[in-house]
Amino acid sequence: MSAQIIDGKAFAAQVRARIGEQVATFHATAGRAPGLAVVLVGEDPASAVYVRAKGKATREAGMESIEHRLPADVGQEPLLALIDTLNADPAVDGILVQLPLPAGMDERAVTTRIDPDKDVDGFHPVNAGRLATGIEGFVPCTPYGCLMLLKDTLGDLSGLDAVVIGRSNIVGKPMAQLLIGESCTVTVAHSRTRDLASVVARADIVVAAVGRPEMVRGEWLKPGATVIDVGINRTDTGLVGDVDFAGAMSVAAAVTPVPGGVGPMTIACLLRNTLISAQRRAGLAQDD
Ligand code: NDP
Repeated sequence: MSAQIIDGKAFAAQVRARIGEQVATFHATAGRAPGLAVVLVGEDPASAVYVRAKGKATREAGMESIEHRLPADVGQEPLLALIDTLNADPAVDGILVQLPLPAGMDERAVTTRIDPDKDVDGFHPVNAGRLATGIEGFVPCTPYGCLMLLKDTLGDLSGLDAVVIGRSNIVGKPMAQLLIGESCTVTVAHSRTRDLASVVARADIVVAAVGRPEMVRGEWLKPGATVIDVGINRTDTGLVGDVDFAGAMSVAAAVTPVPGGVGPMTIACLLRNTLISAQRRAGLAQDD
């Protein structure tokens, strides 16, 4: 048996095309394009790649990309002052500060300075609280992208057993909240989990967000499971996920590849959040 490969790249392209149409409608109604401000501090090469990709996708969707590049030694106060300016700028609907910040900067102080209603990354504690309590806000892009892939693959998720491996604030925890919202029975595993293999073995849905190359073995999986691999690990043999892809393909029903699975969905969801923000701020109905 060979599982279905969940083509996140193709699905994300569809999502982005739809957003492009909705952006054109927004532009015609509101008289301006939605604006996304991206702040990059320092020279981290991976962050620079992500920021370039986000800027390109933003422009392709017909939105305004406002990029700010600051030197690594800019200091905390000028960065916070820039965030204040962006918070007050009516042309800016979304603000994203690319993480990680250079050593010595306080990520929490920076994240919490962003106006929660422009926090399109969904990292502000106000948005985490809104997600946890079912209030409209911004959902972090990577877990939302995973949820879109799961719903597209499985339809209704209600009653399914889901195991999320990883409990970070930006992936694992919001992923668990979203799956609870879909009426899954959710287990969150982490580095202290005992006998991870047996926890994974009961899951209809496995979301791996660990950061350890090919840690989740194919033989751990329940036959017919759906596997979402969030991991991005650079190894000597190239980019690999947190899941043993070949092993998973012979046991699971559907698996996301790395690259080409979750990654493209993250950017698509960032565009979606920016559009939603623009629609909310203009008092317009939000597209689904
Ligand atoms: P973090 O390092 O913040 O969290 C990793 C989580 O994995 C922690 O909760 C940790 O447990 C858990 N963990 C570590 N080792 C084990 C183990 N042996 N068994 C079980 N759980 C373990 O990572 P992120 O959540 O930020 O990211 C996870 C992965 O996803 C990374 O590879 C990252 O690059 C990738 N990523 C991909 C994105 C995309 O767009 N595709 C976006 C964001 C991230 P504990 O809490 O106990 O330490």
